[in-house]
Amino acid sequence: MDNRFLIQQHALELGFDLCRIARSRALTEHRERLTQWLDSGEYGGLQYMQRNLDKRLDPSLLVEGTRSIVVCAIGYKRGPVPNPLMNHMASYAWGKDYHLVIREKLRQLLQYIQQLCPGSSGRVFVDTAPLLEKAWAVEAGLGWIGRNTLLIHPELGSYLLLGVVLTDAELSPDTPMQGGCGSCRRCIDACPSGALGEDRMLDARRCIARRTVEACSAEEEGDLHGWLFGCDACQRVCPYNLHAPESVHPEFAPLPELCSMTPQDWLSLTETEFRQRFHETPLERCGLERLQHRIRTFLEKH
Ligand code: SF4
Ligand code: SF4
Repeated sequence: MDNRFLIQQHALELGFDLCRIARSRALTEHRERLTQWLDSGEYGGLQYMQRNLDKRLDPSLLVEGTRSIVVCAIGYKRGPVPNPLMNHMASYAWGKDYHLVIREKLRQLLQYIQQLCPGSSGRVFVDTAPLLEKAWAVEAGLGWIGRNTLLIHPELGSYLLLGVVLTDAELSPDTPMQGGCGSCRRCIDACPSGALGEDRMLDARRCIARRTVEACSAEEEGDLHGWLFGCDACQRVCPYNLHAPESVHPEFAPLPELCSMTPQDWLSLTETEFRQRFHETPLERCGLERLQHRIRTFLEKH
């Protein structure tokens, strides 16, 4: 049986919703756009984006000998919850830190690939390396890039978390998928800070997801339009997401310790309690002080 089929089957058994494969190559067609974005300043001071441009475009410079890129995705769509503050946080932050969950699943997938292809080696990546994950997802046929600049799968929408295995095993690649946004532009209209351009370019300086998640001062954060951590405004309106099924993965279910938090609980929480409750969640990265400041501002306005 074809190794590609076996790998994809195993990825589903490990809990991924999607798994497809691309042949490694230098994505030279992305260089001009990426350089333009960096030169325009729209990268919003994300220093890591400026580094390792060549590596970012060519996975074989990141991991020598890479022949195949295995791209996996998990859907995390969840409906509104009865906790008003949580509905002002990006829904990926309601559960466990996806980096930890996905990295473990990818490690198991890599081990399986090594069993199927003896002598092969590889590495796994979740969001932390200079790698164009979304471009590889498109190349592998997981979907296309929507006007919200996110990967869209026709059935699962854009609430997708991606993980990638780079391997020197020669695997037969999948083909890219046809699809697109048509004349829809709901995400552009819904973005509260005007961060989405007409050309599928994100102005990270304006994007609330960037401003609330990356390290920056309260002044730099600016007007968050009611968002406390991350922002789902451009995803909530996307018709593909409206029709997507709810995620079935328990790792990304809303954490009971978050669901039970009232505004007063948040404001009286100590650093020690915060670390105990939200260790290994996306909120940990933000820190309690910033969250409390945003919650106070939110309560004053609402
Ligand atoms: S995450 Fe929010 S601020 Fe960023 S592009 Fe989407 S709607 Fe705009
Ligand atoms: S809201 Fe419309 S334009 Fe935006 S990503 Fe979804 S389908 Fe595309």
